[in-house]
Amino acid sequence: MPTDDTSTRQHPRSPPTMAALPPGAPTSSLFAIRTTPHSGRAVFATSFILEGTLIWRSDDLALSVLLREYRREVCGHCFSYEHGRDLSIRDQDVGFAFCNPDCQAKWKEAQGPIGLQAWEKIEALVKGRSKEDAEMMDVDLPRPKKKEIDAAWDAVSSQAQLIRIARTAERATNADAEGEGVKVTKQHKKALQKALCNPVNPDVLSFCISGILHRYNHPSDWLKVLALAQDPTPYHNTDDLHAFVRSYLHLLAILPLPLLSLCTPETLYLWSVHDSHNSFGIRSLEDDGSEFFGYGCWPAASYFNHSCAPNIEKQREGPVWVFRAGRDVEVEEELCITYLSGEERKLSRGKRMLTLRRNWGFECGCERCEEIIV
Ligand SMILES: [Zn+2]
Ligand SMILES: [Zn+2]
Repeated sequence: MPTDDTSTRQHPRSPPTMAALPPGAPTSSLFAIRTTPHSGRAVFATSFILEGTLIWRSDDLALSVLLREYRREVCGHCFSYEHGRDLSIRDQDVGFAFCNPDCQAKWKEAQGPIGLQAWEKIEALVKGRSKEDAEMMDVDLPRPKKKEIDAAWDAVSSQAQLIRIARTAERATNADAEGEGVKVTKQHKKALQKALCNPVNPDVLSFCISGILHRYNHPSDWLKVLALAQDPTPYHNTDDLHAFVRSYLHLLAILPLPLLSLCTPETLYLWSVHDSHNSFGIRSLEDDGSEFFGYGCWPAASYFNHSCAPNIEKQREGPVWVFRAGRDVEVEEELCITYLSGEERKLSRGKRMLTLRRNWGFECGCERCEEIIV
């Protein structure tokens, strides 16, 4: 109607601050996201919030890694855990277990048909390997710098190209596909075989495939991942970097063809960048979360900064994170969660700072840390 049109033009529905929000950011009448000079984007209360109030539910799990050692005991979909008992439903082809048929069906639906093929390929690759492959990480190595990261990816670019050509030829030999005139030589096949001989890291492979599948199944959500990417040096140590580069080649060699165009250094690198600051540990719900099953990325949940004395409590309910006010919160107070797990919260200031620096790469300047300095 003409009158509505006029009023919309004169009074835009969204105030300018809302329009500037990155895709995937949480929105609520209780808080607003603003950019701060010191800690990037942060969440601030826009009204008084009573202790216990539900602040946000993050059901936007984009990527998750269940460590291989927990795959029989922790449900692939809802992450439930029965005190170390093997779950009743085990899908040997994809290497996941589930607490009930409903969880299995939901997991399958989320992966999609191409995703299921991808998990089967990875499972077949990992099954044939010895355990030593997975235990190579030396966590005390320094974080690789940008130059080292670029060099590691560059070093495999020609091998990657040869593998791509070898795989593209597969498509050409499929009965229903047109030949693409690619000549595959011994050199191409050798590059592929060489990639398969590299040591396998099942958890890094899971991370990579989970990220590639998310981009494949939800192309429009990729912007949410990019919106959170900040750190140019996301790898924890040199072993970690090389495990990613090797996993890239493994995946090029085995993934279903429709995923090959998304299996790029860019996709994997940007997920690592996202992960290095924004992932949440998936832990047991009892015993202060003493069992660490893996981790995941929930983009909307990533906007809360850390404090060692948080005013927001986060709780995992299946595959969803729920955020509640842990105490009364005044208007304009920053809403913070803690990135530390149960036991870590009790550490001394120095040890907390070390953990935060090592895992998330920042110096904590929260109330509780500052207090002790003065
Ligand atoms: Zn379940
Ligand atoms: Zn602190």
